[in-house]
Parts: sequence; C-alpha cells; structure tokens
Amino acid sequence: MKIAGSRPDRLIPVRFWGTRGSLPTPLGHGAVRAKIRDALLAARGRRLATAEAIDGFIDRDLPFSVSGTFGGNTACVEIVTGGDEYLICDLGTGLREFGNHILAHGPAAPHCFNLFLSHMHWDHIMGFPFFTPAYIKGNRIRIHGCHKNLRAAMQGQQSSAYFPVRFEALGATIEFVELEPGAEYEVAGFTVTAFKQFHGGDSYGYRFSRGGKSIVYSTDCEHKEPVLDASYPFVEFFRNADLLIFDGMYSLADVVSVKEDWGHSSNIIGVELAQLAQVRRLVLFHHEPACDDAKIERVSGETIRYEEISRNGHKVEIVSAYDGLELAV
Ligand SMILES: [Zn+2]
Ligand SMILES: [Zn+2]
Repeated sequence: MKIAGSRPDRLIPVRFWGTRGSLPTPLGHGAVRAKIRDALLAARGRRLATAEAIDGFIDRDLPFSVSGTFGGNTACVEIVTGGDEYLICDLGTGLREFGNHILAHGPAAPHCFNLFLSHMHWDHIMGFPFFTPAYIKGNRIRIHGCHKNLRAAMQGQQSSAYFPVRFEALGATIEFVELEPGAEYEVAGFTVTAFKQFHGGDSYGYRFSRGGKSIVYSTDCEHKEPVLDASYPFVEFFRNADLLIFDGMYSLADVVSVKEDWGHSSNIIGVELAQLAQVRRLVLFHHEPACDDAKIERVSGETIRYEEISRNGHKVEIVSAYDGLELAV
C-alpha cells in the first residue's frame, strides 16, 4: 500500500513522547532546585552575558542530568511516517503531549491514528483518556494489538468508577485491529510484524520496516536466558535493526538481586542482544521511576563503556531515551 505523501527514501524520524516505566514521574521541587544549584555552581567565573552564551553553556558544558531530565511521561513513541496517517507505539501519558502537538500544528480533524499496544498494563494505556483527538468527530483511530481483550481493557479504563467520559462516548471513530504474531501487515506505508515477549499477561514487540530500514519497539520483556546466543529467537527479530527501543529498566545488579521475575530487563542484556543481532542503535527505554536523572545518566555511561569493552567488531550506538528526544533512522 502506498500512502500519499510518503517518501520511503527519506530519513524516518522517531519521536519519544513518553519514556518512563510503570508510572509518571514528574520532577519535584527538590530535584529542580538541585539542578539550578548545580548549574550555578558550574557557571561560576564564566562570562555569560548574553542569552546565546548561556544557551551554549547549557548545551556544551552541563551534563544532561543537570540541563534536562529523562522524562516523566509513560511509554509513547511516534514513528513519523511523513504521510497522511500517524503511527504510535503505546498509549502512556506521553500520548497526551502528542495529541496536543497535533492540535497545535494543524486542523483538529480529520486524522488517522494507528496505535500499537504492547500490552494493557496501566502505564501503557493511561494516556488515552487524555488524548484530545479521540474526542473529535471525523478522526479515525485504529488500536492494533495481539491481545484478545484489548477493547475490554480500553473500555474498562473509562468505566464510570475511574473516569467521567465513557469510551463509547468519544467522538472519533475507533476500531480495534487484532494482529497475529509473526504475520506481516502493511500499515501507514510500513511493514509491521508483532512478536510475543516474556511479561506478566504477555506483551508484544513490533518491528516496523520501510525502504530497507527497520525500527524495533520492544518494551516490557524479561530476558532470562542463562546463555544468549544467535539461536535465541529475539536475536532474529532484532536482526540488523537500525533502531532497537529496548526495556532496559533495571541495571544488571537489580535484575540478579531483588527484581528478578518483575517482567523487565537490564541494560547489559540489551547490549548483548543488540551485539548478537548487529543492531545499529540501542535505545534504553522504560526508565525505572525510582531512578533520578543522575542515576539514569550513570547507567547510560556504564552501558556505553560495557558496549566498548565487549564489542566484537560491530559497534552499537547507545542512547538513553528522554521525553522530547527525536532520532532519525
Ligand atoms: Zn510498562
Ligand atoms: Zn508491563
């Protein structure tokens, strides 16, 4: 299927609207104050007389944990199609920001949104009741997923005990599209394949391909194999991906101590799988709410060093996702 306006030869932008796992994690007063203090300490003795000089100082001289934040919204990633239809992975609270962006930059309707659900744990659907385009007549929303009870979960979230607006009362036309793991589908100019993952109640990853490029969205999965090698099915699924968005919620120390069987993986397993599959870029995603920006930055640095010392010819670039990150594939 050819989507009007799509340009398969061009770079594919990927926008991260929500990157936190489990529950939204806003910065508190103490964290903001600590960033201001650290920035002012770093600025002592410098000539920062103009806004340009200050911007340059922020961009070049402050660590990201001081100048920014890894994000408070839960999982939501947009693959920018360049065509008439939108493509979104998961409906965490980042979806609200995406909806507001659509309304701020164009007409309210008509739009067609293709939403892909990894699973229905709350952090992956809780943004939907706040997705304003869903309230607007003329918009079309297709919710894709492999679970049998997608509709019931989405309706249940908006039952009267939890939310004032019923799912059935939303103005947009909403369809549910049940996918079969392993089958290929054409959606918004991309070939899409789903695969089953290890997570309580099951979750599904998705591989999106177009024009020889592939993006894999694989969150909420616990890789527990004692030995990872090329025969591990995920290696084939991740094979040669240009971008692998990976649930690296925990550090390896967490996984082998208290958080085994919690349904998530570590940064180290992410690197090993990305190396085996010859992935170009690995994005650590679904950050643990208990981790502050300094901790996530530290784990990110350790992950980069681990990739360097364990590299066997093929380099994997490591990125830690944050709300507002945009990567081109
Ligand atoms: Zn999750
Ligand atoms: Zn989950």
